[in-house]
Amino acid sequence: MDYKRLAELLFPDVTMTPEELEEKYPPRNLPEGAKVTRFAPSPTGFVHIGGVYQTMVGERLAHQSGGVFYLRIEDTDAKREVPGAAEGLINTLARYGIRFDEGAAIGENGEIIDRGDYGPYKQSLRGDIYHVYAKKLVSEGKAYPCFTTEEELRALEAVDKKAEVKSREWTEETEAEQKAAMRRLREFTIEDVERNLAAGNRFVLRILADGDPEKKTPFTDLVKGKLEIPENDEDFVLLKSDGIPTYHFAHAVDDHLMGTTHVVRGEEWLPSLPKHLQLFRYLGFKPVKYMHIAQLMRLDENGSKKKLSKRDMGANLNDYERMGYAPECVAEYVMTLLNSNFEEWHAQNADKSYLDFPFSIKKMSSSGCLFDFDKLNDVSKNVLSKLSADEIYKGTA
Ligand code: GLU
Repeated sequence: MDYKRLAELLFPDVTMTPEELEEKYPPRNLPEGAKVTRFAPSPTGFVHIGGVYQTMVGERLAHQSGGVFYLRIEDTDAKREVPGAAEGLINTLARYGIRFDEGAAIGENGEIIDRGDYGPYKQSLRGDIYHVYAKKLVSEGKAYPCFTTEEELRALEAVDKKAEVKSREWTEETEAEQKAAMRRLREFTIEDVERNLAAGNRFVLRILADGDPEKKTPFTDLVKGKLEIPENDEDFVLLKSDGIPTYHFAHAVDDHLMGTTHVVRGEEWLPSLPKHLQLFRYLGFKPVKYMHIAQLMRLDENGSKKKLSKRDMGANLNDYERMGYAPECVAEYVMTLLNSNFEEWHAQNADKSYLDFPFSIKKMSSSGCLFDFDKLNDVSKNVLSKLSADEIYKGTA
């Protein structure tokens, strides 16, 4: 197949090259060892306390190393987007003293603006950029279009989801059948593509996976430790039929162009890591370091550990002020969860801010920390006891 011709057919409007983009977003000029981290929330609701936990890790790593900490809004799923959520989360994090050096920010009229040279920092504004790399992958035979009717697309989407979940009903046979069906998607001619395009049919772009899942590569996650990661053999979607990237594709392109060195994200992304490693390799990007953070846990009525879900008390960051906890108290408490030696350090350095604490990745727990209101109350008492009556009255804390 003439891949160059295929790429031209699929992306006739893309004239920019990856080289031009690399030039536009050159490597950051930072001292040796400086870390570039980001918080990359999807604007789908309130800030979860677990989000603050992750944010603080990113913030500490960047600022302790003389690096950059930035905010990227991952708004590629319009259906799940909640109006005003992006603005809400920026304002909430600001009250918690979380300082972004660059990225999405709030402008004078309350709108989201870009601050920094590596934007746009809102994924919905980066469509042209993703298409440049999509075209490159097609022209190298590493990605291919899949024209399907809406109905077929929905069925395939279900397959993608199921493959990720690997639910119990998913037997080896159905898996083999599915794999064969997926492989058949790879079989098409340039003429098929021309005919589909002429008929106005839309396509999703899939990666042409070359991995062997039986082969495992050693991989070190900075929180989880040494892992064995299987190669990816799933032709997962890079661009949806409306041209919008999936999380996987946007993650690789954005974190590369924005110069991220350390990706701090929830452990729910760990199963997708084989996909990301494959994408970085296909795109010729320098791999980033990963830190997969476990979800915060709570104790249920029977004393067993459960994930602190969205609906649980304490999940929504906005609730704390309503419950009477000053952001500084909550932030200090989160610090105690991050590094167990924080309290000892703070006792010895009572006059210092929690932002002066020498945070260490090595002291982080690789499994979920227990969120506990009694402990939060304890920490809060401590913080408040150091303030003058005047400060408390004015709400300085
Ligand atoms: N937008 C993704 C989420 O909300 C971010 C994951 C990441 O940090 O890469 O889960």
